[in-house]
Amino acid sequence: MRAIGIKEPGEPSVLTMVTCDPPLLRPHHVRVAVHATALNRADLLQRRGLYPPPPGESEILGLEMSGVVCELGEGVTAVTVGDEVCALLPGGGYAEEVVVHEDMLAHIPSGLTFEEAAALPEVFLTAYSNLVWLGQFQPGQSILIHAGASGVGTAAIQLVKQMNGNCMITAGSSQKRSFCKELGADRVFNYHDGSFVEAVQTFTNGHGVDIIFDFIGEPYFSQNLASLSFDGKLILIGTMGGSIAQNVDLGYLLRKRLQILGTALRSRSQEQKIALTRSFFSYATPLFERGVLRPIVDRVFDWRDAAAAHAYMETNQNIGKIVLTIGR
Ligand code: NAP
Repeated sequence: MRAIGIKEPGEPSVLTMVTCDPPLLRPHHVRVAVHATALNRADLLQRRGLYPPPPGESEILGLEMSGVVCELGEGVTAVTVGDEVCALLPGGGYAEEVVVHEDMLAHIPSGLTFEEAAALPEVFLTAYSNLVWLGQFQPGQSILIHAGASGVGTAAIQLVKQMNGNCMITAGSSQKRSFCKELGADRVFNYHDGSFVEAVQTFTNGHGVDIIFDFIGEPYFSQNLASLSFDGKLILIGTMGGSIAQNVDLGYLLRKRLQILGTALRSRSQEQKIALTRSFFSYATPLFERGVLRPIVDRVFDWRDAAAAHAYMETNQNIGKIVLTIGR
């Protein structure tokens, strides 16, 4: 099969089309002809040699895909040949074929295109697991979502509004802030204006937010602690701005009984990923089918232009997801 390989760690131009053996089919696994995959920040790090795949997993980039089931392993009952499916992957999505455990697959909600379905698993499962599993989010609670126009941010805004919460987001451009407002954000904040602490206090009538989704890390750490309510939870999902925090007042943790929770979807066990996939899609499929939730696709590239797609993500311009279509 054809796949996108990495000539050597480095800039987007190291991405190249290669021919390799298709993955082996195993019992309770399914071969899927991939129609689309989507980019994740982890792909950029892996391309640079900074984020190796978990032991035993494909070296090929790609943490999610949509496509059509083309072969069943022994004992498969969950899907049949011809089904249109999408799934989270441990790697391997930038390829013509993937092999996935049957219980990791979800049928594509009707009305969604392959491009939209490929844009869905990583960001919605990340947002849902952090909101529901880690955050124990309750209706009426308030949440601050940094990088609101990111893939994960756009999924999180929609889920919070569906679950009757209030959300404030930060984003770096007026176009991104307007988009987040249209998506349902109750308050938007331009982080180029400085500290967000006062704006959060105004937004929450002085209580602070119950939960923060942070992807930025060090530059926001102290402001995040100052922005949380009593018993608030800081959920650290990324560290795009830096990971070494200094001059942090740990007294906040005691005074406000705060919790700091780190999270990583890729390293979760397959059992956890199956449980998450089943829980999320039973909740969200009807909402996608009614058009209440929608994957936000910024741009679609042909997979032969994967290098251009990576270079585009590195400019931080995307609102929502960048998708690759796998041509045949
Ligand atoms: P994305 O769609 O590419 O969006 C990232 C956005 O973050 C950028 O467009 C930019 O928007 C903002 N940003 C980047 N660097 C920044 C900085 N230094 N300071 C402030 N804002 C910055 O990203 P994504 O795919 O949703 O992923 C978001 C983060 O979540 C990444 O760090 C990713 O690795 C992480 N992630 C973690 C998990 C997990 O399980 N832990 C799962 C999925 C993703 P502005 O223009 O607004 O600055």
